[in-house]
Amino acid sequence: MSCPVCKSINTGKVGHNAYYCADCLLEFTENDGEIAIYYIDAEGSSYALRDKDAAAILVKSIREGNDLLLQESIEELIIKS
Ligand SMILES: [Zn+2]
Repeated sequence: MSCPVCKSINTGKVGHNAYYCADCLLEFTENDGEIAIYYIDAEGSSYALRDKDAAAILVKSIREGNDLLLQESIEELIIKS
């Protein structure tokens, strides 16, 4: 399955309906066509991202090495539980 965020095929299955993108470093799950995207931080906590657009913003800030932006913006990108 290709990555819903960057369309890379550089993905691996990590669990039942769960996949990991080696390019975005994001996990995603697919259930009946519904895709959920997760960011896993350095401590291993996972955050459910709002949508593909939120995921793309997050990936961009990680790629640019902008950890400060990441800390400030992640609250707006995740689904609060
Ligand atoms: Zn990806």
